Amino acid sequence: MSLKKKDYISREKLESLQLKRLRETVERAYYLVPFYRKKFEEAGVSPEDIQTLEDLQRLPFTVKQDLRDNYPFGLFAVPLEQIVRIHSSSGTTGKPTVVGYTDHDMKVWQEVMIRTYLMADVNEKDIVHNAYGYGLFTGGLGFHDAAQALGATVVPASGGFTKRQLMLMKDFGATILCCTPSFALHLAEVAKEEGYDLQKDFKLRAGFFGAEPASEGLKKTVAETWGIRYVEAYGLSEIIGPGVAATCEHGHLHIFEDHFIPEIIDPQTGEVLPDGEEGELVITTLTKQALPMIRYRTKDITVIHREPCPCGRTILYIENIKGRSDDMLIVNGVNVFPSQVEHVITRIEGLTPNYVIVVDKKGVLDKLEVWIEVDEKLLKDGPGTLETLKKKIEEDMLNNLFINAKVKLVEPKTLERSMGKAKRVVDRRELNI
Ligand SMILES: [Zn+2]
Repeated sequence: MSLKKKDYISREKLESLQLKRLRETVERAYYLVPFYRKKFEEAGVSPEDIQTLEDLQRLPFTVKQDLRDNYPFGLFAVPLEQIVRIHSSSGTTGKPTVVGYTDHDMKVWQEVMIRTYLMADVNEKDIVHNAYGYGLFTGGLGFHDAAQALGATVVPASGGFTKRQLMLMKDFGATILCCTPSFALHLAEVAKEEGYDLQKDFKLRAGFFGAEPASEGLKKTVAETWGIRYVEAYGLSEIIGPGVAATCEHGHLHIFEDHFIPEIIDPQTGEVLPDGEEGELVITTLTKQALPMIRYRTKDITVIHREPCPCGRTILYIENIKGRSDDMLIVNGVNVFPSQVEHVITRIEGLTPNYVIVVDKKGVLDKLEVWIEVDEKLLKDGPGTLETLKKKIEEDMLNNLFINAKVKLVEPKTLERSMGKAKRVVDRRELNI
């Protein structure tokens, strides 16, 4: 498969291709989008200043608010006649962010999504059950188009209707599952309730999970529960949708670098950090026509690795996304990501991966509570066991995250389930006076 070969390009070839494409993208942005021209002029840079890949650092950042300020089509670099698809993020506050694709952009998107599927060698024999939401969200159609282009049989299940989805997965013999990791767990939970045998009744061999951060522990739980290979599909609509990066057989999240240049910055100062240091991921698109993105701040916290991966791919990889800088909680001065709490929980026997973090204020101090559902078996062991378990989790949180969290163990199936992206944090501090 020739597309797969693109992941193994020589670094020398890759870097010269990146530079050529970067210069084209910067010119496109500067000459066709007044917003970029103004920002570049304010920063005192012009397209001619981009002579090497390092010169990228001279360009200003782009943030989500810039898309909102230019709502709906202000950042497009082509006239609307050339736009063949519009997607949009769910705007929980204010205007949503709108993204557009030319026919060429759709081909690029399909290519990177095919390369994502090839991480688990998806082919025409596969039956792809796609439970990402269809519609303005990029997940549904992004996974759909590429699976169809590969010749696989696509089942456009979309979100919700859990019991019906299970029936279809079993009856149609789905081999590939595409959804959020939290929905994969929800499907497994309902399947058990309905009396399915997860290994015998289903033919799944791999799943493509994304659209929300998941800890290594949670990924392992999903993979083991279903008995499948877990492939992470990382992306964001502002960049292209899913298809920015995907995990190889060694669990490394490779970025499709011939289309996207990643950088890691200090989220406070904006300074570019050396490889191996943790910070905010910034991405520049190299091949997008309709919506070129220059140094887009993703808010996702991770680390870049350039050392060779045993899979042989030459494109670099990033570490598991630790969380979004937006989701980071500061509890009595200590930084906490929900994914770190999740990692602790998923390593302890007797707990389910269903949890909620509740932050409150008591006097001047922040108070953090973690509500976790225990599994049925444990409930039968009585209050003594629960008390011991509670202490153990609190100790683990203190040792691993350096926070004093209070743990509340709740009965199975009492916390709200998500049909799409999971809501893990309830911050009540702003409500207090
Ligand atoms: Zn690899």
